[in-house]
Amino acid sequence: MVKKAKSPVTYAKMKRIVSYFTALIKDKKLGSSHPIYRQMNFLRPENSVPDDDRAAAVCFSNPTEEPQCQVSAADFDYLKVIGTGSFGKVFLATHKEDGRYYAVKVLQKHIILARKEERHVMCEHRVLLKMLNYPFLVKLHFSFQTMDRLYLVLDYACGGELFYHLQREWAFGEPRARFYAAEIASALGYLHSLNIVYRDLKPENVLLDYAGHVVLTDFGLCKEGMTGRGTTRTFCGTPEYLAPEVLQQCEYDRTVDWWGLGAVLHEMFYGLPPFYSADRLEMLRNIISQPLALKPGVSSSARDLLKRLLNKDRAKRLGAKRDLTELQSHPFFSSIQWDELVAKKIPPPFVPSLTGPGDLTNIDSRFTELPVPLSLGACEEYGATFPGFTYINDNILSLSAQSQTCGH
Ligand code: ATP
Repeated sequence: MVKKAKSPVTYAKMKRIVSYFTALIKDKKLGSSHPIYRQMNFLRPENSVPDDDRAAAVCFSNPTEEPQCQVSAADFDYLKVIGTGSFGKVFLATHKEDGRYYAVKVLQKHIILARKEERHVMCEHRVLLKMLNYPFLVKLHFSFQTMDRLYLVLDYACGGELFYHLQREWAFGEPRARFYAAEIASALGYLHSLNIVYRDLKPENVLLDYAGHVVLTDFGLCKEGMTGRGTTRTFCGTPEYLAPEVLQQCEYDRTVDWWGLGAVLHEMFYGLPPFYSADRLEMLRNIISQPLALKPGVSSSARDLLKRLLNKDRAKRLGAKRDLTELQSHPFFSSIQWDELVAKKIPPPFVPSLTGPGDLTNIDSRFTELPVPLSLGACEEYGATFPGFTYINDNILSLSAQSQTCGH
């Protein structure tokens, strides 16, 4: 049974939430230290536990313990901006020695520190380290830091954001939506098996590789240590895709990810997230209390899946009992051979058009037109502020033996 906040969500309260959300649209994401989080206590159930994400501060250990990284910011040429996020930008870069392409996520330390988001950043780093070799999850090759910035060197997913393709095509046919939903579900099920809840599923975080397979990125909002029955109350995520229990700051568990999958699947079918309204106040209220109304145009098994994933009662949501296994046996996925899917043997229904591994065709020009700061590669490696951040993936050091996400 989902725990409800004791005071009802009145129109005035919702209006306050929406004005905060609106102010945050630029940020796109709400971290638990954001002012909105502190100011939204009126939505919290009484006697709520302290947010365990915030309970402990980042441990500032002796900087001399940081291992010397043999890879540094100066080893890369930074070519273009390919994405923007809350703490910085993501750049297409090449390694100067071997010319391989990477996506380098560069985070500004002062923004992280000002927003007290050290724990989320280190969590993203830890999660990236844990899942080095699962298909459909982005791979971390190196990480290092300079005086001002943190660098995460990732595989470049050159097929672009799912959102980019969805915007251009408005909606996907069922076979294509099924394929993406299955690969996303597989990735989420794997994270859950590591007791990690993803919490931030949205089409912008689902990228495609050169062949058209899913690459899930952005692990900054992951919650670690969530066993099957574990719950948390941290308020975070992206407004359109928030599960009702998160919005109401009730306890929630890994089933928030299955709600997120339902929201993304709905957007793939209909071009908009469920409960969508141009009026944000209306939308948030709809998520909490309006019954799901599905327009015609999709099969009965797809409708049934959406209804089960978007069940407002997390205890009755598909996946609540046996997680991914429940989804795998839903009729909508009956044509999916899950072993073959994980082996990437199912041919993607759409192959991005690309001219090579550094191709930018599928990256929105609103990113690629942004300037690349010259200072990016100019700083020396420096390990003081974020101990434990420096990392080299030994498996990937033999670079030439590996195949890149862009197929080279
Ligand atoms: P947000 O604040 O929206 O959560 P963030 O700061 O956590 O963002 P990411 O979501 O990781 O940053 O990256 C921002 C954008 O950069 C992504 O939406 C995507 O478009 C692009 N991007 C990130 N990683 C990669 C990658 N490996 N390959 C290609 N593009 C990427």
